[in-house]
Amino acid sequence: MTSSSPSGQGADYAATASEAYRAALRVIESVEPRVAEATRKELADQRGSLKLIASENYASPAVLLTMGTWFSDKYAEGTVGHRFYAACQNVDTVEALAAEHARELFGAPYAYAQPHSGIDANLVAYWAILATRVEAPGLAELGAKHVNDLSEGDWEKLRAKLGNQRLLGMSLDTGGHLTHGFRPNISGKMFHQRQYGTDPATGFIDYDAVAAAAREFKPLVLVAGYSAYPRRVNFAKMREIADEVGATLMVDMAHFAGLVAGKVFTGDEDPVPHAHITTTTTHKSLRGPRGGLVLATEEYAPAVDKGCPMVLGGPLSHVMAAKAVALAEARRPEFREYAQAVADNAQALADGFIKRDGSLVTGGTDNHLVLLDVTSFGLTGRQAESALLDSGIVTNRNAVPADPNGAWYTSGIRFGSPALTTRGFGADDFDRVAELVVEVLSNTQPAAGPNGPSKAKYTLADGTAERVRAAAAELLDANPLYPGLTL
Ligand code: PLP
Repeated sequence: MTSSSPSGQGADYAATASEAYRAALRVIESVEPRVAEATRKELADQRGSLKLIASENYASPAVLLTMGTWFSDKYAEGTVGHRFYAACQNVDTVEALAAEHARELFGAPYAYAQPHSGIDANLVAYWAILATRVEAPGLAELGAKHVNDLSEGDWEKLRAKLGNQRLLGMSLDTGGHLTHGFRPNISGKMFHQRQYGTDPATGFIDYDAVAAAAREFKPLVLVAGYSAYPRRVNFAKMREIADEVGATLMVDMAHFAGLVAGKVFTGDEDPVPHAHITTTTTHKSLRGPRGGLVLATEEYAPAVDKGCPMVLGGPLSHVMAAKAVALAEARRPEFREYAQAVADNAQALADGFIKRDGSLVTGGTDNHLVLLDVTSFGLTGRQAESALLDSGIVTNRNAVPADPNGAWYTSGIRFGSPALTTRGFGADDFDRVAELVVEVLSNTQPAAGPNGPSKAKYTLADGTAERVRAAAAELLDANPLYPGLTL
């Protein structure tokens, strides 16, 4: 048990949480035993595998238990103190607490805790930007106060303007997220979109190229942030580019919010002082419940505050309560130790791959994730992901820049350090993880498909999965998940 562990609160905490879970499972069992069984099995599976999915973590029992209450039953459309439903006084308390913790933790003038997920947080942000920069001036020009006051014709003109704006975001294959203007996502349909990539030679963001693209395209919104870029971003430079072309800078810190909260990313690498709007999920490196959060400057706060009804329905009050608990945890000094360990461990994992001849996108990492190009093992990402899973190592395949295998089969595996760091893994453990991954991949061969080598099928040399599972079990036993928690 380490000080950075969410269960590192001592034996009393673990014993009390055990009692709570045992009782809850008995109650569930009395109605649908198969759900109780799957819930028990999920814990056993999570305890028994090396979870290296960069977007996942293990929330604390306090956070998890907070989600299982009667707040789930309450409708609370509106905002704190201004609801469309009666009897929201307790929801007001937890939503205000979540927002207060978020403001204090990130040093943001304003925080909105209602988005149900990261994608919702981004939708709120996009529509807050459109409302502030297109709808409000459009209404003023027409001498109207509210959209309901417009004639049919004027409303159509305003709608056309809203749907005719431009967004510049990072491309999916260089690490951006599909909500950053990817055509199959609504962001790519709402906006005329263009993508910036990374320097093909280094894999790093080329700020001069981003500036050139922004000057040419003149976006209303410049999006920074990523899902699979293993490097830090200079948000001061991004803001300079946005200011030069009159764009609003939106940063999606869903992946690295824990490193911002834990003060590993400061100065130019902290998006909050530089962005007009910052969005995040709460469940990745931030280690909270599944959900979203929007931080904004005073200028955008009034529009963000209208996230419901703009793009959201009733908030998930039980999840907002859990966000308040998780954000309170993240304000503790031990969260800074945790965040630093996340970055140190990702570094150890990257070094472990490099010394075993692994090929890494950008040649390394300085955040929480590592992107291994598995084509040097003769594999696709799909084959590597499956062979690793057979061996008890849970990862996800991911495209690499200009991926020859496309977004489905891919050529990369994305690894993240947040979850195993929560279990208490240190740098030596992550080096051993790199060794085990390389052992699996070196013992995996593509199998034949109907038209040459298959992109999905593979063979794993006999005994490899068993050997690696046994070695992983040693690491997992030494760093138990939820120590002291028994069902
Ligand atoms: N933004 C980024 C950068 C992400 O990586 C993700 C999820 O992977 C999201 C947004 C969407 O989050 P959610 O799955 O909670 O909608």
